Amino acid sequence: MPSLQLPPSAADIKEALRKYYGYSEFRPGQEEAVGAILSGRDAVVLMPTGGGKSLCFQLPALVSEGCCIVVSPLIALMNDQVEALRANGLPARAVNSMNLEADNQAAYEAAARGQLKLLYISPERLLADLDHISHNIRISFVAIDEAHCISQWGHDFRPVYTELKRIRQQWPHVPVMALTATADRLTRDDISAALGLKDPYSYIGSFDRPNLSLQVVTGASQRERLKTIASLVDKYHDDCGIVYCLSRKKTEAMAAKLEETGIRTGCYHAGLTPEQRHRVQRDFVNGKLQAICATVAFGMGIDKSNVRWVVHNNIPGNIESYYQEIGRAGRDGLPAETILFYSYSDIITRRSFAEESGRTEINSSKLDFMQRYAEANVCRRRILMSYFSEDFDHDCGNCDNCRNPRPKLDATILAQKALSAILRTGSSEGMNVIIDILRGSGRKQLFDKGYDRLPTYGVGRDLSAQEWHAYILQMIQLGLIEVAYDDNFHLRPTEAGLKVVRRERPVELAVYVRPDRQTNKEPSRTRRAKAADPELTLHDRILQNLKAQRRKLADSEQIADYMVLSDATLHAIADKNPAALRDLVGIEGLSLVKLAKYYRPILLALKHARNQSGSLPAGLSEEVSGILFNGGMEVEEIASARALSASTVVGHLCRLYKQGENINLWRIVPQETYYTVKTLIDSAHSDLAMQGAEANQTPGQYLSSVYGIPGSLYGRVNAIRQALEKK
Ligand code: ADP
Ligand code: ZN
Repeated sequence: MPSLQLPPSAADIKEALRKYYGYSEFRPGQEEAVGAILSGRDAVVLMPTGGGKSLCFQLPALVSEGCCIVVSPLIALMNDQVEALRANGLPARAVNSMNLEADNQAAYEAAARGQLKLLYISPERLLADLDHISHNIRISFVAIDEAHCISQWGHDFRPVYTELKRIRQQWPHVPVMALTATADRLTRDDISAALGLKDPYSYIGSFDRPNLSLQVVTGASQRERLKTIASLVDKYHDDCGIVYCLSRKKTEAMAAKLEETGIRTGCYHAGLTPEQRHRVQRDFVNGKLQAICATVAFGMGIDKSNVRWVVHNNIPGNIESYYQEIGRAGRDGLPAETILFYSYSDIITRRSFAEESGRTEINSSKLDFMQRYAEANVCRRRILMSYFSEDFDHDCGNCDNCRNPRPKLDATILAQKALSAILRTGSSEGMNVIIDILRGSGRKQLFDKGYDRLPTYGVGRDLSAQEWHAYILQMIQLGLIEVAYDDNFHLRPTEAGLKVVRRERPVELAVYVRPDRQTNKEPSRTRRAKAADPELTLHDRILQNLKAQRRKLADSEQIADYMVLSDATLHAIADKNPAALRDLVGIEGLSLVKLAKYYRPILLALKHARNQSGSLPAGLSEEVSGILFNGGMEVEEIASARALSASTVVGHLCRLYKQGENINLWRIVPQETYYTVKTLIDSAHSDLAMQGAEANQTPGQYLSSVYGIPGSLYGRVNAIRQALEKK
């Protein structure tokens, strides 16, 4: 532990990153944020979901004196983070309304005894217990997660958050770190002022998530949607994804459909009881579900890093929500797919939501932007990044528009047909009727209005309704047609549109692509995996075996798969294909504690994947103690991580030393202490020898009673002595 006055050096912090997390490098912004809070400065950290915010406060908490108070409104997430920390051997607990009150009290007591490095707490509870905490707990600093909840401008305003300014009043000298994944400018500016932060160090990370592929599929039928989702499930057979739907009813309907096709599906919406919700979240986190159909309420409280895909069955109301929701995929940094199913009727529904929201103007303009994104023909990531005011000056190569730039067609005649159909109705119809007229539909409504006698009736029979839908959307986007949002969404030509009708202006549109051709058609990886294909690469076999082992471990520890080891770490192991225990050292994400806990199942999985039989070599247990020791852990830490006694660990280390391993014995007992105690032991031996038969004490007891030297020190000195002598 660092001393009270001196903050840990950059090297200490890097060392802690290795030791506690098994990571060799910081992600952008992490090191600076950690450094700022450790030097006593306030900090504001803005990073996208999956950017690595947790580490920004966890790591400084671990190397500081006292306990870090972490405020979070998301109770389930809080409990997950605590579980994940504890699985990694790190002292954290939570206080919130979901826990038993006795557990909350135990958490406070542990913090008061100085046994915790992180105490997670809900804002309500923190505010209620401020005095109690002040009097009993030594606080290193305060971290406020989801800090955007403080802003009235944000999409997730929580009144209780505005009370958090009391933290600064109560503890004027305790540094505060505010964290959020919200990129919205107004919200950003609000946070620091509302919390009363003083000249905070501020980090605004890039919100780009290059590993998320972006795709918008326009006009897909229900069947095509189901097919697309089923192929995602198939492709990521062992993993899972989320289907976001607009309403409770749609969520249930979609879940039922997916269930019918044999997909293990869960359903999540505001109508469930807390117990039902909890169960669905558990099943999802534990990898029991392949798909979850949910309203937006889902995912806030979930910190699952290996969600491989997100589908929006309906368009979200704004880019912030959309980005946050797709951001729940691929938090581990591995490739993940996102698909937005876009249809015009959703825009109409959303438009009316916006109007009823009481904040019509702001919500309508947010929806406009969302719509422009969905209808865009240019790189989608450029649009997103420009929305978040970020410089992004190249095409991303990982969105549908970049991957399949759509050829253009001369659509002047096509556009004229649509525009004159609109004009002939006196601009008094919406999209569907216009399409019906163009296609010469036999619907009674058309005859009633005499539309079958219009010259444009049936002039567009050569195109499907879906094609017309897509082309009219493009015309709206190009500003040729406008939608009367205040008048039943009737279509009407704009000035530019009238020019087209008058043949004064040509029109180019992007060629329509059928929805089933719009989705990715890569061969399914996991299909092959399922059949235990001998062609499977060693890499894939290792991964398969590792996942199976992980499943067993997660079950027996009753924690989520990703809390045992993340997918990224499993991939790193498979990439490295380590031959021996020591080759596990330095694998990204394999902290020392995890190495100690899981080296056996990992090595077994590797052996199995290589079709080797037999058991693991002897002496591994000692080797692990040596690795942990040389990785910076002390004897007691090793003992507690491995559930061994300290004397066993000392025995391991001394044996390794004797075998010629590089072990610094003076970290077990400082050299001076060693020689002092050794001299005392020698004199104890001679004293006892002089007493001869009357001596009824062992040398250890003698040392303890005469010099107050504890038995454990005596044992260690003896062990070291033997190691040194017999070498
Ligand atoms: P956020 O809270 O910003 O959404 P997390 O803190 O959950 O993101 O981190 C996302 C993932 O990135 C986690 O799996 C985490 O372990 C991993 N991660 C964080 N920092 C690093 C790092 N420096 N190197 C490698 N992986 C990291
Ligand atoms: Zn792109």
